[in-house]
Amino acid sequence: MAYTATIEEETQELKRLYKDLLKGTYEVLSTDDKKEIRKAFDLAVDAHKDQRRKSGEPYVFHPIAVAKIVADEIGLGATSIVAALLHDVVEDTYYTVEDIEQLFGETVARIVNGLTKISHLKKDNASLQAENYRKMLLTLHDDVRVILIKIADRYHNMQTLGSMPLENQARIASETLYIYAPLAHRLGLYSIKTELEDLGLKYTEAEVYYDIAKQIKDSKEDREKYISEFTSIIKESLEKEDFDFEVQGRTKSIFSIRKKMLKQGVSFEEVYDKFAIRIIYKPQSKDEKHDAWKIYSIVTDHFTPNPIRLRDWMTQPKSTGYEALHTTVMGKSGKWIEVQIRSQRMHEIAEKGYAAHYKYKHGSGKETGLETWLNKLKDALENTEVDAIDFMENIKLNLYSKEIYTFTPNGEIKSLPKGASPIDFAYSIHTEVGMHCRGAKVNGKMVPLSKELASGDQVEIMTSLNQKPKLAWLDYAVTSRARSKIKNALKEEQKALGEEGKEILRRKLRSLKIKYNEKTINNLVSFFKLKTSLDLFYRIGNGSISNVELKKYANQQTNALYSFFRPKSKRKKQDIYIDQDEVSQKFDLLVFGSNEDSLPYTNSVCCNPIPGDRVFGFTTINEGIKLHKKDCPNAINMRANYRYRIVSAKWIDSTQREFIVNLMISGIDKVGIVNDVSLVISNSMNVNIQNINIGTEAGYFEGHISVSIKNIDQLNTLISNLKSIEGVMKVLREKLSK
Ligand code: MN
Repeated sequence: MAYTATIEEETQELKRLYKDLLKGTYEVLSTDDKKEIRKAFDLAVDAHKDQRRKSGEPYVFHPIAVAKIVADEIGLGATSIVAALLHDVVEDTYYTVEDIEQLFGETVARIVNGLTKISHLKKDNASLQAENYRKMLLTLHDDVRVILIKIADRYHNMQTLGSMPLENQARIASETLYIYAPLAHRLGLYSIKTELEDLGLKYTEAEVYYDIAKQIKDSKEDREKYISEFTSIIKESLEKEDFDFEVQGRTKSIFSIRKKMLKQGVSFEEVYDKFAIRIIYKPQSKDEKHDAWKIYSIVTDHFTPNPIRLRDWMTQPKSTGYEALHTTVMGKSGKWIEVQIRSQRMHEIAEKGYAAHYKYKHGSGKETGLETWLNKLKDALENTEVDAIDFMENIKLNLYSKEIYTFTPNGEIKSLPKGASPIDFAYSIHTEVGMHCRGAKVNGKMVPLSKELASGDQVEIMTSLNQKPKLAWLDYAVTSRARSKIKNALKEEQKALGEEGKEILRRKLRSLKIKYNEKTINNLVSFFKLKTSLDLFYRIGNGSISNVELKKYANQQTNALYSFFRPKSKRKKQDIYIDQDEVSQKFDLLVFGSNEDSLPYTNSVCCNPIPGDRVFGFTTINEGIKLHKKDCPNAINMRANYRYRIVSAKWIDSTQREFIVNLMISGIDKVGIVNDVSLVISNSMNVNIQNINIGTEAGYFEGHISVSIKNIDQLNTLISNLKSIEGVMKVLREKLSK
């Protein structure tokens, strides 16, 4: 519809908007606050007076609407309301940040400046976009209000997206789903997050959106009947206990119903928990938790609860700060229904997120999950070594994944994303603990470092100064903190090993009577099919290129010498410098399962993976293992319906491959023998202990050790080193048992 208001009508509308802006604010505003807001309001009206939105409305309606969201829905105070009113002034008009600072002070100017910078970010390609988001997120630790106002800005833009050109709609909507909705979620702004997701879906997959919306509407009557029946059943008992409460029926959002339908491969009707009952109560006593359990007990007097679906987010709030008691009960119609029990305070936190937290947190001194998360984010952001796309993927992984709660031996809680391993746990305690993590005990038992932790696990990390981060850790570390620290440490180690490898090579070439010069290095690089000299030095240094292989090269050279005359090199002896800062991965071998076996396979036609892709194997009936990309369009279906046919797979660099060898070691028992053995192993370059188990009996000991090695040279050196330990009599290689 065309916009037709007259100037007088617009002036009236502005007056109404101003009154309305101050009506529903969450924070109580002082007279001074109101003065500042008035000043900002007038400045915004004046500054934007010649601008119109695409719909024809005066532009200033937009910053006013954003300020309203900031004031009521996010619940921020005067400073943020002022900044929201001014958020587009520097971007779009002749006012400068300096003007804003003079008129409204340093804080408002800083926030407006942050918001202006975000809108200057260019969005050309994926990597640039990711880098830009990173910059945007950086403002989080300057002032989280910048991001909160930016979310309000995006929220209003999404609400009015209909009047934008079609091609921009899809782009803005996808960006909203990609970054703003997860951010809103993480900052505890549940209702805004839900709206952003629904609007995002509306403008990316309109058909799906309207279809689900219609079905929700059509089932409204049934739902309301259900809620009123439910309420009537518990009402009397709650009133008997003098509860002041409200019962709401909450439909799941269109977006999350859609997600369930996709994930479970079901139709709208088959999504069984489409709506939930919410009981919001005013605490009777100081102990609102106690009240919640009392209400729980009343509800379950009338309805049978499902014990495995009880969630106590009060004792251990989600890291977003969410608190509530959730239970699922069998309704009268024989269907499960979720019941959420929340005090008014908990409800406020769920709706207003960060702002409500801030309000209630004063005085309690407890670190909230949100702050922990902000600190983690800060950590990741400050680590500039990480590639921007990696970074975004990590953040998203951490945003979306469900959390688990684990405990230190002292009972301190560590919240980690689902899928986390003892490595993640170790890094969450302290970087140094992670760096030297040698092993872990979960609930008192030794476990491999790849073990996936579960909620409630008590984890004890064992460290050793000789231990260093391993490449394999990246297979099971999931937190961005651990991953980036491991990657950095590996890079450092590669550099050091490269230097060491250079020296070793110099020595070995001398004994093989081959000149150490640039030409030889280049020949070696191509002989071993590598890319750079650092690749070569590194692989010599870590032992993955053995003496035998170097001799092969030497023999080839001598044969070549016999066959034709070669002029002497005129070039001066010259040192070869390591110029690349990273060892390149070759990804020339595909391995399956946790034992990293190589098995026959064929590429799938649907996604046609290439070396280096993230992949998995799918066991077919007639054609053996088919290889698919992890993001293959068919992957969700295969994972959901044929889990048992999926084999994990990955591309590796065969020159860095490790083999597991079992050793039997025996001898005369003496104090500290276990220590001596594990010291010898961890001092052997690049040999990792997988498992060690030593038993003693009547002055005699026998042990079984699994180690991972790169080649036979390493194994032979290790065996002779073990044999030289005082007391050790026998070291034998055992057959691998599966
Ligand atoms: Mn704006």
